[in-house]
Amino acid sequence: ASAAAQDYDFFYLVLQWPGSYCDTKQSCCYPRSGKPAADFGIHGLWPNRDDGSYPQNCNPNSAFDPSKVSDLLSSLRSNWPTLACPTSDGLKFWAHEWEKHGTCAQNLFNEHGYFQTALSLRDELKVLDALAAAGISPDGGYYTQAAIKSAIQQGTGYAPYVDCNRDESGNTQLYQLYFCVAADASGFVECPVSPGGRPCGNRVEFPAF
Ligand code: 5GP
Ligand code: 5GP
Ligand code: 5GP
Repeated sequence: ASAAAQDYDFFYLVLQWPGSYCDTKQSCCYPRSGKPAADFGIHGLWPNRDDGSYPQNCNPNSAFDPSKVSDLLSSLRSNWPTLACPTSDGLKFWAHEWEKHGTCAQNLFNEHGYFQTALSLRDELKVLDALAAAGISPDGGYYTQAAIKSAIQQGTGYAPYVDCNRDESGNTQLYQLYFCVAADASGFVECPVSPGGRPCGNRVEFPAF
């Protein structure tokens, strides 16, 4: 079989704030390993094209195999926790992300490389520290989107795209951060295109978790 060609221009590394996944009308379930730390977790590492489109589910012959990431499981539990219901160990979430997105970057990495790369990219960012340095913390307070972006730009060198959702009372809150990563996954880059996503407006809650 011939190796798949690269069919994308960059990656989104998407982080999620657990507090904003859980305080919604839909609510959440903690994973089997217990309540995750109050920190940004990974949603996924998604190959994307400059025109905003993206490949998905690229290789049905490459089903997620947990034995290939056995050395990463404790790090995945801490830094890529699942919060969907019903409670699970995370394997379903990781399988979904690998099969939908990771299999579209098999020119670059195998399953182990996909997860290892996402984990180390997340480690580089230290988003909570960047926010804290600007006085922004998950205290249920409200911040402007501009302040959130600028704090993260100052601390990490890159301005993320901020994606908001709504809590149970309908307040707009900080849900996901989209960072862009070079096509060879060597590091972060300025985003070539904005992802779709829900508008934040300028009063953004940062809920506790
Ligand atoms: P949502 O509707 O929650 O924004 O997106 C649903 C799913 O579609 C995401 O979790 C992701 O798998 C995929 N998706 C949404 N937007 C993008 C995008 O801009 N790029 C890529 N690669 N995937 C996306
Ligand atoms: P995407 O939105 O990447 O296509 O799909 C995310 C899938 O993983 C959905 O089916 C969602 O229910 C599931 N999932 C499991 N745990 C989580 C989680 O913690 N966050 C998000 N966003 N989706 C999760
Ligand atoms: P601007 O180019 O003025 O930064 O933004 C243009 C539009 O995109 C405005 O409606 C603004 O609210 C929205 N926008 C800019 N940055 C973000 C972001 O990080 N997240 C979301 N959800 N909307 C944004």
